Order: sequence, then C-alpha cells, then structure tokens
Amino acid sequence: MISRLLLLGATGDLAGRFLLPALARLSADGRVPDGLQVVGGAHQDWDDRTFRTHAATRLQQHAGDVPTEVRNALVDRLRYRAVDPEQPDTVAAAVRALDDGGDATDRAAVAVYLALPPALFPAVLGALSGADLPAGSRTAVEKPFGSDLRSAVALNELLTRVTGGDQEAAFRVDHFLGMPKVQALLDLHAPGRSLAPVWNSASIAQVDVLWEETLGLEGRADFYDRTGAVRDVMQNHMLQVLTLVAMDPPARQTEGDLHAAKLELLRSVRVLSAAEVPVRTRRARYTAGTLSGAGATGGRAVPGYTDEDGVDPARGTETYAELLLELDTPRWTGTRFVLRTGKALGTPRKGVALHFRTAAPACDPRDAQRVAADRLWIELDAPEETRQPGVQVAAPGERAAYGQVLTDLLSGGSRLSVSGEEAEQAWRIVDPVLQAWAQDAVPMLEYPAGAAGPPPLEGTAGSTRW
Ligand code: NAP
Repeated sequence: MISRLLLLGATGDLAGRFLLPALARLSADGRVPDGLQVVGGAHQDWDDRTFRTHAATRLQQHAGDVPTEVRNALVDRLRYRAVDPEQPDTVAAAVRALDDGGDATDRAAVAVYLALPPALFPAVLGALSGADLPAGSRTAVEKPFGSDLRSAVALNELLTRVTGGDQEAAFRVDHFLGMPKVQALLDLHAPGRSLAPVWNSASIAQVDVLWEETLGLEGRADFYDRTGAVRDVMQNHMLQVLTLVAMDPPARQTEGDLHAAKLELLRSVRVLSAAEVPVRTRRARYTAGTLSGAGATGGRAVPGYTDEDGVDPARGTETYAELLLELDTPRWTGTRFVLRTGKALGTPRKGVALHFRTAAPACDPRDAQRVAADRLWIELDAPEETRQPGVQVAAPGERAAYGQVLTDLLSGGSRLSVSGEEAEQAWRIVDPVLQAWAQDAVPMLEYPAGAAGPPPLEGTAGSTRW
C-alpha cells in the first residue's frame, strides 16, 4: 500500500470538505498505512503551520465525528509546499518533500492527487512527467477529465508520460462509483436476481438516468460557467451509471472485466447525427426564482443564471441538459435511454427510473420502489436536504465515496477510476451534442429556478415527477 500522498489543491473545497475528512475517518478506522505522509500543495505561499491550522478548521467542520486525537494526529503529520504549475521545479520539489526523513536511496512509491481546477491538469501532468516519480507511484486526476474528446486524448497522453505507460498507475477519479447504491447496481440485474429476467428491451421501454439538483451555483460560478451540466455530471457520472445499468454483467467481476464491460457498453451507444441532435437533446438554463428543497437552500431567492456573479452569458453554458440515446446491443435495441440533469430544479433526485411496457414486476423494496403501475425507481443518492443550513456539507454517501477513492488509490484498486478508453468513449457520445449546441443548433430554453424544468423531450415517457 502506498504510504506517501501529495495532495495538490490541498487548500481547496474538495480537499477541505471531502479528502482531508476522508483521511481522518480512514485513520480512525485504522485503514491508512502506518506512517502515512501527506504533503499538501497549492498556490498560496503558506508554511506547514498555516496549512495545519487551515486543515484543523476544515476537519472540525467536516469530520467532527472523528475523535479529536485522531484529527490532531493527522494534522500534525501534514506538511505544505507552494506549487506553481508553470514552474515544474516547484511540483518536483513537492514530490521530493515526501522523501524527507526517509532513505533517499530507497524512494517509496507516492500517490499524487490532482484536486485542482481542471485547467491546470495539463501543466501539472507535464511537470509530473519530468518529476521522476518513484516506481509504483499512482496519479489521480479529478473530473472533468478534459472538456472534449481532443483534450481528453491529450490528457491521456500526458498521463501515459507520467506513468510510463502503466495503465494501472493512472486514476481518473469518479467518486460517484463509490456510492453504495451505485456499487449495488450491477448486482440488481445479475443472473439469478429477481429483476434479471425483465432486464431487457422486451420488458423495458425506457430507462431514465436522472441527476436533478435543487441546489444552484453555491458560489462555484467560476467553475460551473466554464463547465456546464453535460461536462460536469453527464460525461462522467451519468454515463458511468448507464454502463452499470445496461452492461451484461461479466461472469467474473474482476476490475479488468468490469472495465472491459463498461467500455463495450459505451462503444454500443449510438452517436447522435447532426439531424438528430435538435430532436433528441434539450438544453436550458434557469431564470430567477426561489430554490426549492427543505434544507439549507430551500426558500432562497436566486437571480437568473445569467445574472449570477461570475457568469458570462456569452459562454452559453447550460444548467439543464437532456439526451435521448439508443444502444446497439441485442439486449437493448428498442429501449429509449434518457439522461437528464439540471440545477435549481423542483425536486432533488439522483437515480434510475425503469419504465416497463406493462406492469412493473414485484421486487424487493430495498432494490427499487414502485412509483407508478409501470415504473420502478432506483435511488442512488439521498436527496440534498441532508445538507445543513449555511454550510454546504458532504452527504454521508459522498463522504464514504471519497474514503473509497483514497483507499482504492493507495491500495492499487481501480473500481472508482475510469479507464482512459472509457473517458474517450464518453466524450465520443457527448461531443457532437456540445458542438451542435455551440453552433446554436438547439435553442436554449429557460425554466424558473425551483420549478420542474422544461418539458421533457418529445417521444419520451416524460411524466417522471413523483
Ligand atoms: P477550489 O476550491 O477552487 O480549489 C482549487 C485548489 O487548487 C486550491 O487549493 C487552490 O490553491 C489550487 N490552485 C488554484 N490555482 C492554482 C495554481 N495556479 N497553482 C497551484 N494551485 C492552484 O476547487 P475544488 O472545488 O476543490 O475542485 C478541485 C477539483 O475537484 C476540480 O477538478 C473539481 O472539478 C473537482 N471536484 C470538486 C468537487 C467539490 O465538491 N468541490 C466535487 C467533485 C470534483 P490556492 O487556494 O492556493 O489558490
């Protein structure tokens, strides 16, 4: 197990809200290697003490459930190095800092985690490729992995240079794969399970993969306006969920077999033609309204998306996206696959809806809920109401997921990582849509914040508000 971690972006939101708390919980459970060394890197010219004070505050906020002595022990072992991606030496120096105190002739493997703004990935990977990472090291890259197929291919090439071509050493993080219900998706339709006989186009007319949030921008306009709904969650999390729903479960569920099955499924998704994009996709952004939901955000008035601080309306960024896809597989020919996501919607839902051609079959309520006579709903994540007023906190499932990401990364696993080919295939699916949207081939619709969103695409069983 790797026992040296370089966390780049250590002062950011992801590190403070998820990664450092996950390390604290793993430490409490005895699931990190003895003598784990952690060096945090970021832009600010901090010293170890400033970083430790910052980390202690974040751990207090987001890992208050972890015993104080465990948190303190973690904080005490944190170190900090300022890094500037434009100066590769600073990145290499942060890597070398992990050797401090060790035997310089016997350099142990390191894990480098890029919890950085995506625009910095190319420069940092470039710097890492010249940093002479010790044998057995692994490099984790957060999402979004590229902004289109071309940039994803370029990132893959850079990662190959960093890892010396060792695919196992590259870790493209998709934390959503660590959510317990997402991990259970494959088992739901595995041979022998009650739903397995109806898991096909003869029984199911439509599958919805939904990622509907009541949250708005929550102060992240700078990131979101450069990203949009498709790049933020559809190209990665939602297409990964689609693979787990639609793949034929491999006979053996080794990591290699799972990645191969996912890749095959992604390859089977038929790319929309220029003529299809206007009728099979929908994009929209919210106008002024009141956020719904019972939690922190519920009842808060928000301006229209284009009036939010940090948003440049000229970018044409969507806050809502819907795609109607088909799969060219014997199991699914004739079934509609609808991917729908949006921010500032009326009801928070992340999950999968199955629309049966006739009555929905009986099933274990722990697997799926019957929400209409012909419909089952598989919830993948608890609604956002779990968040506390005034502070955006991590929902329990998300917290657990980042613990799994770090465990996977340090222990050599790849379940929560997306392979380079999977990432490229996912871009192959969404790229033509984004290109057509950029050329205004599809109108930008509007929906009031806190409302149900625009009407569903024609030809789909759209009445999915339950
Ligand atoms: P963030 O809060 O903006 O933090 C960015 C981090 O990068 C900070 O530590 C910042 O350091 C550092 N940084 C920025 N510019 C730098 C530069 N020029 N040189 C060196 N360091 C620099 O971003 P985030 O929300 O943590 O997101 C980080 C990554 O995680 C992104 O890829 C995002 O998509 C992904 N992610 C985030 C979340 C989330 O909930 N936040 C969830 C899933 C995935 P300084 O403070 O020193 O500037």
